[in-house]
Amino acid sequence: MEVPFTIFNLFIFLFGLCVGSFLNVVIFRLEKEESFVTGRSHCPKCRHQLIWLDLIPVFSFLFLKGKCRYCSQKISWQYPAVEMATGLLFVLIFLATPYNLISILFLLYIVSFLIVIFIYDLKHYLIPDKILFPAIIISFLYQAIFHTSAMGNYLMASAIACGFLLAIFLVSKGQWMGFGDVKLAILLGFLIGFPNILLGLFLSFFFGAILGIILMSFKKCGLKSEIPFAPFLILGTLTAMFFGSEIIQWYFQFFTF
Ligand SMILES: [Zn+2]
Repeated sequence: MEVPFTIFNLFIFLFGLCVGSFLNVVIFRLEKEESFVTGRSHCPKCRHQLIWLDLIPVFSFLFLKGKCRYCSQKISWQYPAVEMATGLLFVLIFLATPYNLISILFLLYIVSFLIVIFIYDLKHYLIPDKILFPAIIISFLYQAIFHTSAMGNYLMASAIACGFLLAIFLVSKGQWMGFGDVKLAILLGFLIGFPNILLGLFLSFFFGAILGIILMSFKKCGLKSEIPFAPFLILGTLTAMFFGSEIIQWYFQFFTF
């Protein structure tokens, strides 16, 4: 997929940066179990209240050289990384979706949930039900209302993904796969349907294996180390969603003579 540089895409990217900044707040407050709406933003280390200059996505991080203005402690890379990723994914959503406002809104919403789950699982080896369950319900309702005739397909994709991960969960007694991943698979099936979910699952395990090999070769972890799997499931699913047809075309070119 080509990503042309246009004012419109730039605008969507900046919008994504702002949403990403909000997602960082959501993640932080999930960690602290604070309410989503009340309370001003403050430095997580020194608790100093932040002013608007400290809260500009990405730019504040660069401008402050990655350090808090008040206590000079390091600001986590999570903040600019989440903002940039949200910006890029939002641009991809607008490029990949035919001009259909409802499906664009649906994808912006679900992808935002997936970014929160990605970071939360990466940091805490846990997928918060508070985030996952609403996303499952919304994606189920969206497909049931707007793609009624394809509902069988989405249910099947969900059942395949969920069943496959559940089997791994049961066989390994929860060692290779958490139950949160099994629940997440329901959402991913509703999101990309069949047969795309097969590519999504394949890519998830492929990315996981590559990172595992890299980490093991640097002796960062052994075979038994715990690696959260939701980030790979999300990465694999989003890759299949945005680039699925390109990947399949690329793959099948090797079979045409
Ligand atoms: Zn501080």
